[in-house]
Amino acid sequence: MTLKPTNPSRRAALGTLTSTLALAAAGCATELASGDERNLAAVGRCNCGLIDVHSHYLPPVYARALQEAGLVTLDGGFPVPRWSEEMALSHMDRHNIETSMLSVSSPTVGFLKDSRARRLLAREVNVFAAELVQRKPNRFGAFATLPLPDVQASLEEIGHALDVLHLDGVVVETNIHGIYLGDARLDPLFAELNRRRATLFLHPTSPPCLEAVGLGRPAPILEFPMDTARTVTDLVFAGTLTRYPDIRMIVPHAGGALAAVAERIAGFSTLPFIKQRPAGGAEEVKRVLASLYYDLAGSAGDSAIERLRRLTSLSHVMFGSDFRSHPPLALMPMSKDSGDSAA
Ligand SMILES: [Zn+2]
Repeated sequence: MTLKPTNPSRRAALGTLTSTLALAAAGCATELASGDERNLAAVGRCNCGLIDVHSHYLPPVYARALQEAGLVTLDGGFPVPRWSEEMALSHMDRHNIETSMLSVSSPTVGFLKDSRARRLLAREVNVFAAELVQRKPNRFGAFATLPLPDVQASLEEIGHALDVLHLDGVVVETNIHGIYLGDARLDPLFAELNRRRATLFLHPTSPPCLEAVGLGRPAPILEFPMDTARTVTDLVFAGTLTRYPDIRMIVPHAGGALAAVAERIAGFSTLPFIKQRPAGGAEEVKRVLASLYYDLAGSAGDSAIERLRRLTSLSHVMFGSDFRSHPPLALMPMSKDSGDSAA
């Protein structure tokens, strides 16, 4: 399969994560923040051509693999949703989304025990995305799925996905079978993404101890935001994001619990008995957190945006819909619009 790079404007926007993406979110932030039904119309009026950096797809090959593995829920306990290109386009048209950056949601390919099967499925979902992007370059972009925890295979998939399929970056979960992203075993992955100045879209998944701490409830309620904060903290304390500063990382759901604990992370970073901690202390913590990009998926309310403003600038706030999430998270909290139900 030979694919040409498509939609250089979208690629350039993601490459720098500056004007287009940032303005799409920032231009609408005030209206999104108000979050009532009337502002659906306001978003329509702002005509900012939203780029949705948090939108999921389930190609038939992936849905079949889940089914063959006997999975009736995605990671965390929500039922496997239906997805089609038509559903995605209808959702986008309804909400003034010009382009959706597609990613496979948790558990990505991690539910497969065999590493070869993970490699094959990752390749297949990436090829599916590439063909869709090739056909509709103005409407879709995609983040590549990696066959983690196999780091060598993931490096090979990065090469194929970015150089041959021309996808726009990679999606990586907050932990990979209990390995958090500051773990030195993942350093080769970060080194390669840094070398390429690639975009890494972070996506939450369940912590390995979900049975103990999940209280029998779906993980996205509490554990997804916690795991997001946990892995970013791990990256900061391990110094990973300082060593590899050219990766453009998008953190989901307004950082999850990160904003709530950011001052604690900064304060504790100077304690001498903590062996692995950021060399630059609290200032380094603040600088790294400010350098990240944050999507607003399921978090477009006043309080989330206010918290983000304390972490970073509005130019680092992205729009995200979490399309095909369960239960349907309206684009704006408090909105009566729940028309994206996957039922
Ligand atoms: Zn999601």
